Amino acid sequence: MVREQIQRRGVSNPAVLEAMRIVPRHLFVPEPYTADAYEDMPLPIGEGQTISQPYIVAYMTEALHLTSSDRVLEIGTGSGYQAAILAEICDSVYTVELFAALAERAHQTLDSLGYKNVLVLHGDGYQGWPEHAPFNAIMVTCAPNDVPEPLKEQLAEGGRMIIPVGGRYIQYLYLLEKKNGKILQHSVLPVRFVPMIDEKGRTY
Ligand code: SAH
Repeated sequence: MVREQIQRRGVSNPAVLEAMRIVPRHLFVPEPYTADAYEDMPLPIGEGQTISQPYIVAYMTEALHLTSSDRVLEIGTGSGYQAAILAEICDSVYTVELFAALAERAHQTLDSLGYKNVLVLHGDGYQGWPEHAPFNAIMVTCAPNDVPEPLKEQLAEGGRMIIPVGGRYIQYLYLLEKKNGKILQHSVLPVRFVPMIDEKGRTY
């Protein structure tokens, strides 16, 4: 998976590649898809949601230029796989998931693998996680129509955010950086993520 899907497409950060080698992706993919865990595609994880394609996980992780002292916020815990990748590289990971069943399962999986530096919150990630802000990096794995203001606010000075932005069919991955209190942003890749929704299922 790492050689054929990730390195071949240009991801080269050693810490990212090592994390992708270490984390057992098959333990995050539920039956009946477990056997396909290392294939080059997203897979269903329940509640109509998906675990992202391995390459996209690696690409987004590399784009954040993480260091071992970073505190990271993830919006859209899903299976918990991306959180585990972040936890291998960073100091601590705070991850928010809208669906209680997914949050609970992700928590159990991460716990059984011994990740002590990941906190899972069941809630609406549009609001971020103000109690633990500011964050050195923010990764969003569901797509709103615009970058949520609370997430911009919770980014530390010098912090980076990677986020898919757009409607159901056309989205771009944006990389944002907070410099001197100002947000700089540019688009890096066309993508397709599940929408960011509120508790009533309405798209943000
Ligand atoms: N990062 C995940 C993949 C997530 S798919 C992994 O590694 O498996 C996107 C996730 O975002 C879904 O689980 C979906 O339920 C969640 N989501 C959608 N809207 C949300 C919101 N407002 N707050 C938090 N999570 C949300």
